[in-house]
Amino acid sequence: MYLCYDLGGTNIKAGLIDKSGHIHNKKNIPTQVEGNLEGVLQQFKDIADRMLEENSISKEHILGAGLGVPGFVDMEKGVVTTAVNLGWHDVPITKRLAEYLPYPAFVINDANAAALGEMWKGAGQNYRDLMCITLGTGIGGGVIINGTVHNGTNGYAGEVGHIRVKDHGRRCNCGKTGCLETEASASALAFYGEKAVRDGVATMLADKMKDAGTITSKDVVEAAAFGDAAAQEIVNQAAYYLGFALANMYMVIAPGRIVIGGGLAAAGDILFKPVIKWFNEFSLTEIKGEEIIYPAQLGNDAGMIGLARLVDLNLKTL
Ligand SMILES: [Zn+2]
Repeated sequence: MYLCYDLGGTNIKAGLIDKSGHIHNKKNIPTQVEGNLEGVLQQFKDIADRMLEENSISKEHILGAGLGVPGFVDMEKGVVTTAVNLGWHDVPITKRLAEYLPYPAFVINDANAAALGEMWKGAGQNYRDLMCITLGTGIGGGVIINGTVHNGTNGYAGEVGHIRVKDHGRRCNCGKTGCLETEASASALAFYGEKAVRDGVATMLADKMKDAGTITSKDVVEAAAFGDAAAQEIVNQAAYYLGFALANMYMVIAPGRIVIGGGLAAAGDILFKPVIKWFNEFSLTEIKGEEIIYPAQLGNDAGMIGLARLVDLNLKTL
């Protein structure tokens, strides 16, 4: 079995996963970011102890550990170059983890882990060239070429959230403006929902704002599904930029599938239909978005399952 940790700035998702990708136990606990690196490493150890005990599994049955990190990763060196949400810079994570857990460990960017998971057990099965996009607070991406994660120089490959799609756009977390994630992430939908209300646009979102004091991306999607014209326009805008970016990325990699996951992907057809429409608008006539763009299938488990795959592949080549 493998110990898999999908580390986020908010939560650690951990799993005990066997070689066939079956999850035997999983935990979801808040990340103690304030505990710094040592705190997180201790959390990893505590979770491992608990999961082994609960499943009556001895240490000898654990063959390796996989770690997914939200940031730039040098997979070969086992170093996290930058993870802004965790405040990590140049952390030799696999080396440090070895002080807490006596297993060979491997690290990967979290979106790449999800891409590996979807290729192995989800919507990307049977495809050797794949792109996996995660629509959440930000927009992440993983690129798989010929069955292998393409990490790129300094781990920048697949960072699709920072593709520039708009002139004079909003400021992004990266410091630049007009990035895809400022226009098409879950937080972008929430932002434009609140903006519509503030601007006095006639929309049912105004009631939501009055009740809750804030608008979520889910509110916008639900209002759009209900037929609210302002909300539909917001979703369509996001779909336009996504379709634009995906069509351009497609021409570089020509993946068999583009898998879209993350919280916002739960919107379903309301989002996917316009994304495919705009993708087709910006693509060569022969390229059909409806044959390429699919929702992710593994939900929150994609990263953990991909991590098991990562460990499996790496142990075989050691
Ligand atoms: Zn950016």
